[in-house]
Order: sequence, then structure tokens, then C-alpha cells
Amino acid sequence: MLPKVLQSRLVQARGSLLLCRGCLGPVGQGAEAGLCARCWSGLLPLPEGRCPRCALVHAEGDCPEATAWELGDALWDYHGGRPPLGALLLPGIKQGEAGWRGALLGRIAQGPLPGWVEEVDQVTSAPSTLYRHLLRGFDLSAEVGSLVAGRIGRPFQPMLSKSWHSGRQAARTESQRRRLPRKAITLRPGAASDGRVLLVDDVWTTGTTLLRCAQALREGGAQEVRVLTVFRAL
Ligand SMILES: [Zn+2]
Ligand SMILES: [Zn+2]
Repeated sequence: MLPKVLQSRLVQARGSLLLCRGCLGPVGQGAEAGLCARCWSGLLPLPEGRCPRCALVHAEGDCPEATAWELGDALWDYHGGRPPLGALLLPGIKQGEAGWRGALLGRIAQGPLPGWVEEVDQVTSAPSTLYRHLLRGFDLSAEVGSLVAGRIGRPFQPMLSKSWHSGRQAARTESQRRRLPRKAITLRPGAASDGRVLLVDDVWTTGTTLLRCAQALREGGAQEVRVLTVFRAL
């Protein structure tokens, strides 16, 4: 038997190893990838009554995406939960948090999808630059895209590419992002963009990247583009 004081120190030490990496509270039951069940419950759906095109709540006729695509939605609110879970998970995943990536993909595999997703002919994803893809060793949007494609039994095809100098969205200001040049995103040589295409991305903020993607798909021959993202920043 260990002396009592040592025992209690061991308990303390063990407890401190099991703190949730989101809220820093005890992880408890239902934790996954170092995040407690309460933090995971921050995967919150977008508000009811949102626009079926831009996924925001706005007055009729004010849709900012009216010319870009037909239908658009996201699975969860980027700033849902305390701490905001999307804003915690995505930067972490991009820095190599493989556990968070696996847990998030697992939830996307189980979670509800908008009914209209089933009506598309094929699925593609918003591209990352080749440089960033090689640096990270994965492309989250493409992983989500092929997962969704698998769920609805449609082919996934990487159709778009992004030029290397169009760079990091997150490091840019709002007005710089709006200026993402039209030719920054192009159809890959040989890609067949036809029928009704579902465009998948990880997070939807201003919608400029999605707009450039949708334009390239339409110019490449897609009859219709629909957008689904994992998170929507409101
Ligand atoms: Zn937590
Ligand atoms: Zn709208």
C-alpha cells in the first residue's frame, strides 16, 4: 500500500492528464479524441428558417448567393458550443490533429444530410493548393466529399484545382478574400463536370471560394451546382 498522501497525488496526476482539450474540464463519459461529451455537443445545426441557398436567415430577396448555385447548406454552426467547436476543430485538424479529424469524419458519416443531396449525379470538393495538400498529407474537403459520395452512392471526382499563389484564405482580410481572382480556381484537365454536381467544402464563411468553384464547374458544363459544407460561419 502506498502512503495516503502519495495515493492522493497519484489520483491528482491522473486527473490532470484527463482534462478535456476543449473546455479544460474533466473528460468524463462519452469523451472522444480528448474532447468531452459536452464539447462534442457543440456540433449544433444551423437555425430553422434559414435560406435554402445561402444557409443564413435573411429577408426574402436578399440572398447574397442568388446567382451562384441552386441549393446550399451546412451540417453544423462553426461557432456552435462553448468553446465554439468548429473554430477549435478545423484549425487543429489542419495542424495535424489526426484524432480530431477521425472523430469529426465519424460524426459526418453518421449525421443527417439534407434530403436534396441524394438528387445529385456526382460529388466534388473545393480544392486546396497542391503545396498545402502535400504539406499536410491530406485534404479534408476531399475526404468529406468522398465520404458523402459513398453515403449517397454517387461517384466522387476531384474536378477543381487551385493555383499555388492564391494562398491562405485564413490569413487574409475580408476584403482580400473577396478579391480571390476568378482564375484562381479552374477545372482540372480532363475533369468531366456535367449533370448536377454537389460541391463539398469544410467551412463556408464569405462564400467567395465556393463561388469561384461553382463558376468553374458551370463553365465546365455542370447543369446545376449544389453546395454542402461541414461548417457554416454565421
Ligand atoms: Zn470539454
Ligand atoms: Zn440566401
